[in-house]
Amino acid sequence: MDFSEQVRINQKRLTEKLKPQYDFIVCGLGSSGSALAGRLAENPNVSILLLEAGGGDDVSSIMDPDRWLLNLGSEHEWGFSAQPNPNLNGRSLSQSMGKVLGGGSSINALMWTRGHRHDWDFFASESGDAAWGYESVLNVYRRIEDWHGAPDPIYRGTGGPMFVQPSPNPNFAPAVMIEGANSVGIPSFENPNGRMMEGDGGASMLDVIVRNGKRQSVFRSYVFPLMDRPNLTVLTRALVTRVSFDGKRATGVEIVCNDKIYRIGAEHEVVLSLGAINTPKVLMQSGIGDQVELGHLRIPLVQHLPGVGHNLQDHFLIYGCVWEYHQPSVIPNAARAVLFWKTDPDLDTPNAQIVQSDGGRVRDEMKNLGLVNDSRWSIAPGIVRPKSRGRLRLTGPDPVDEIKIELNTLSDPDDMKAAIASIEICREVANATALRPFVKRELMPGNLKGMALADFVRDGIVTYWHQAGSAKMGRDPMSVVDSNLKVYGVNNLRIADGSIMPRVTTGNTMAPCVVIGERAAEILKEQYNL
Ligand SMILES: Cc1cc2nc3c(=O)[nH]c(=O)nc-3n(C[C@H](O)[C@H](O)[C@H](O)COP(=O)(O)OP(=O)(O)OC[C@H]3O[C@@H](n4cnc5c(N)ncnc54)[C@H](O)[C@@H]3O)c2cc1C
Repeated sequence: MDFSEQVRINQKRLTEKLKPQYDFIVCGLGSSGSALAGRLAENPNVSILLLEAGGGDDVSSIMDPDRWLLNLGSEHEWGFSAQPNPNLNGRSLSQSMGKVLGGGSSINALMWTRGHRHDWDFFASESGDAAWGYESVLNVYRRIEDWHGAPDPIYRGTGGPMFVQPSPNPNFAPAVMIEGANSVGIPSFENPNGRMMEGDGGASMLDVIVRNGKRQSVFRSYVFPLMDRPNLTVLTRALVTRVSFDGKRATGVEIVCNDKIYRIGAEHEVVLSLGAINTPKVLMQSGIGDQVELGHLRIPLVQHLPGVGHNLQDHFLIYGCVWEYHQPSVIPNAARAVLFWKTDPDLDTPNAQIVQSDGGRVRDEMKNLGLVNDSRWSIAPGIVRPKSRGRLRLTGPDPVDEIKIELNTLSDPDDMKAAIASIEICREVANATALRPFVKRELMPGNLKGMALADFVRDGIVTYWHQAGSAKMGRDPMSVVDSNLKVYGVNNLRIADGSIMPRVTTGNTMAPCVVIGERAAEILKEQYNL
């Protein structure tokens, strides 16, 4: 019998007879939840229930890396939108997040970027725990990775669960962008996950979670290989609606599955890994949040924690920087090359993440230029150390009540300055003499200046889909978890996902979320002698 069939039979048996209690309940099987659950389940004596609101991942839009955009707006994502934002000329940004086994790691653009040294050192200083610092996290990364690029034992791991390789079969465009970057003084590196993210940044090909042309989500890498075991129950289409408490002790969860409500107990702990929007939502609906606001919604208070839902952060990209090139050619719709660079030399860390991109998404202004799709080339500037902060608010006490996402993009004026400066970096690179044989002319933004350029930014910003920070780890009164990811003021409840980031990491957030899952497993294994 093949392994998938063994998994199917085993999981059918386990989910048909749910137990009243498991040692651990992990809620949400995204990037962090999968890593955590996979590590806990390695011990056959530990029983684990994994609850995921979405369904199975064995569909071509998920498995085929080139089809990832098809998941947007599909049943595989939550379909969140932020509130209309005056800083974006009234637009509301999509806030897609994965709703499927693997969460974001099943629907994302597959880029593997690990964050900057300063991100992790900041986690350590905020939490007061060196285990979150860069040197320690570098060890975690070596444990996580099965690196298939040029050997690099100092920075890269082999034999770990996550298959990572340099972006395969690059079209000529990524190499050209890197060449352009070099010609204006931005150095290139062997990959974006070692030396490059210890200093001022640079240019490189991207690393991706693709093996033999297939996506290797965090779920596929950590959890699926163990799903034939009796100690690991994976229940899909199970919506966690509330954490149950006995006084201040989390005792289990309430879920809705097949239109029925179930209450399931956790002997040791409940871990919320529902992502940076749904973790705060479930916390608040369980009575953990700002006392006054919960009171207005008549939600019985379990613990006053005013920081729940605050400190929301997201990276943004700006669409619309487009060049025409001499020979029409198909550019892949997933970025293959990346620049991390500073928009201001006085910054201590690169704050712009710029990706070479397809020419497909164009703005209204360009539609009358009569260009065919394949003759356009785009570089998308993005800001990955934004200063603007958003927040989440409940609109009602019921799980079906929508969560209000006030993303507040560009509310800090420094983010507009950084955005404009990041466009200038793109223009410098793409208009460099080195690119003349390739680039015919700049189409947008061209000579826009002042208010017109600011409007170009306001109209062109889209999410990078890196929501984070909304239940932050730290030691100030707005912190929600401590350095061991324990929710303050209650027992037996932890959070392991992007919401615990005190500050969103510099770059795409999947790999850092895997670190958070790994750290959670390390902490629980130590506490319970597993
Ligand atoms: C379109 C897109 C493209 C992206 N591209 C990249 C990229 O190329 N590289 C990169 O590094 N990052 C990328 N990201 C971001 C990255 O995928 C996320 O930051 C990361 O997956 C977050 O991990 P997490 O564990 O915090 O949450 P998630 O991965 O979102 O996992 C949360 C899980 O919890 C489940 N869940 C939520 N609420 C409930 C509930 N009430 N009951 C039960 N289950 C629930 C969700 O369905 C989901 O499976 C992208 C994200 C998106 C959406």
